[in-house]
Amino acid sequence: MTYPKGWRAATALRGVTTGDTVKYETVSYDVLQDSPVLAGRFHREDDLGHNVFLNTVADDPKYLAASPAQLSLHRNLVDQAVKLFGARHFDHYDFLFSLSDQLGGSGLEHHRSSEDGVGAKYFTDWEASLPDHNLLPHEFTHSWDGKFRRGQDLWTPNFNTPMRDSLLWVYEGQTQFWGYVLEARSGLATKPQVLDALASIAAGLDNLPARDWRPLIDTTNDPIIASRKPKGWLSNQRSEDYYNEGMMIWLEADAIIRTGTKGTKGMDDFARAFFGMNDGDYGELTYTIDDVAQTLNSVYPNDWKAFLTQRLTRTGKGAPLDWVAASGYELRYDDTPSVFTKAVSASRKTLDLNYSLGISVGKPTGATVSKISGVMWDGPAYKAGLTVGQELVAVNDRPYTDEAINDAIKAAKGGRDPIRLTTKTQGLVKTYDLRWNGGLRYPHLVKVAKGDGPLDKLLAPRP
Ligand SMILES: [Zn+2]
Repeated sequence: MTYPKGWRAATALRGVTTGDTVKYETVSYDVLQDSPVLAGRFHREDDLGHNVFLNTVADDPKYLAASPAQLSLHRNLVDQAVKLFGARHFDHYDFLFSLSDQLGGSGLEHHRSSEDGVGAKYFTDWEASLPDHNLLPHEFTHSWDGKFRRGQDLWTPNFNTPMRDSLLWVYEGQTQFWGYVLEARSGLATKPQVLDALASIAAGLDNLPARDWRPLIDTTNDPIIASRKPKGWLSNQRSEDYYNEGMMIWLEADAIIRTGTKGTKGMDDFARAFFGMNDGDYGELTYTIDDVAQTLNSVYPNDWKAFLTQRLTRTGKGAPLDWVAASGYELRYDDTPSVFTKAVSASRKTLDLNYSLGISVGKPTGATVSKISGVMWDGPAYKAGLTVGQELVAVNDRPYTDEAINDAIKAAKGGRDPIRLTTKTQGLVKTYDLRWNGGLRYPHLVKVAKGDGPLDKLLAPRP
């Protein structure tokens, strides 16, 4: 492979470089398919230890300015992951990390590498890039959960055989779980920041009308029936919730194990038993739901098959949040968005009013108008007749700004007056009265009991 002059190419494949040409080793077709290349002119390479490399390519050299402190957090990630899982399912591992406002975001796992795309200012505006700090912990976890251990119906002997997704609540759900845990243990985010992220996820599921009718297991069909196309009423249809509600299963399992064993065991023991065999093997080892239940039973005897089946098939209001109370926390709402919610709103260019008016408002870069980007099914905005795509023109007869709508929600708190929203859609101007007197609402996990609970122990770094 000959690259443009001066470019550096990173991949899980190894080869001999002469000038701008790399002669790669001969590998099997499977390994070739699983080994993409990231090449670029502005690059840096950092050794994270344990034969893991962070290969970074950026839009401009100035974005490559990672500080020693930031790099040590990334080394912590690798160290904590190896401590957690025990065995490594790679001989070497390469993060193919792109910092770009042109390429857009990406996260795609491979056995010995991952394609990781975030905004250009990941290193250079560390606080603002907080939502992106979860990406590398998540994709790295996939080397164990997804690439090495693979759901039996997802594993196929060749690329002609269709895959089936019934175990994605392990593949993605437990990867979400370890992704957040490793993000906290490594210090890529602080514990309060990770608690804020979990609060945001828990609140999203706890207020999701679609949970009334659609069980979690059915969302594992989403990659096939929806393939990430936009949905009209996301809150009443739900989407790939095997990620985040899948994570709830493991948060709860950890709390059950830690409580039942008086803190001597937890999901760490499951990780060792389920992922920590065959050191150095980057093949695949398949499993069924019975294998998952059996491994849980070997850690802490319980009717895990019934637990998992119920979590996967039950419908009804409210998310499974027993793990919150079991750790001495409460999911509470107040009028101040968390640092995490603020960072997500800023990076997505949206205003999150989901738990008050039941809308989110979007103003993409370069747009001159703000539009409703999401409406909660059965929420105050829904009941008033608002829908996605309407341009917001005025709030209480004053020109629309994010500040104006926040002020109007605050002013209506505890009173009886409606909030008047004027919208414009395809040349038609219309005014709606919204009945909402509950003020601004943003979720937080608040510690209400003394001492460290299961969640606190789970998020603490391993020595
Ligand atoms: Zn994933």
